[in-house]
Amino acid sequence: MIFDNLKSIRQRIARCCEKIGKRPEDVALVCVTKQAVPGQLEDVLTSGVTILGENRVQDLVSKYGIIGNRASWHLIGHLQTNKAKDAVAIASLIHSVDSIRLAKEIDNHARRINKVQDILVQVNVSGEKSKFGIMPEDTLDVVRGISLYPNISVKGLMTIAPETPDPEKARPYFRSLRELRDRISSELNTKYPILSMGMSNDFEAAIEEGSNMVRIGRAIFAREMT
Ligand SMILES: *Cc1c(COP(=O)(O)O)cnc(C)c1O
Repeated sequence: MIFDNLKSIRQRIARCCEKIGKRPEDVALVCVTKQAVPGQLEDVLTSGVTILGENRVQDLVSKYGIIGNRASWHLIGHLQTNKAKDAVAIASLIHSVDSIRLAKEIDNHARRINKVQDILVQVNVSGEKSKFGIMPEDTLDVVRGISLYPNISVKGLMTIAPETPDPEKARPYFRSLRELRDRISSELNTKYPILSMGMSNDFEAAIEEGSNMVRIGRAIFAREMT
């Protein structure tokens, strides 16, 4: 099941890339393992997945204990400052940095282990109260502020679109994240190459709007996709 699901997702990514003239290998697939059991983790590794994403630090720690460095690990969910140490110890990329205070904490822990921690700044493009992330209008200042920390490297932006059965409804949010990234890049004269956007329901729309990192869970692990 996982093999078939992954095959079909890769085909969909490839088809989508072809449509917009991008190479499929330019879109990174983060396999979101929060619903997966250990046996399934082995299956995704066998299928050639190289990046695993977890949204809670506790789960990152426990699954890292099983899989170790056979994959690179991304933290994709909200991070509390008191858990930054474990996240920095394991994650090659933290997608969910949403304050300067958190960045400062990450920078501290990264310095202690001689690491430059790659991060993305999470933006709440839809402005929903239930969502984490900074507001689009604050993003420039926050990115500028975080960039002053020597042991952090800002690689781009991340967002979660509103949940909707119709991926077309998510598309404008993806577009605004890309436009925001372009604006900040030109304002700060720095490349922010990564746009982490698109999940099981909406990854094709996200790729068409410029995503180069999709975070997919259910479509890989679910028995049936609707
Ligand atoms: C769970 C999760 C995903 C994956 O969502 P699916 O709908 O299962 O593909 C992506 N990003 C974040 C931040 C998540 O928490």
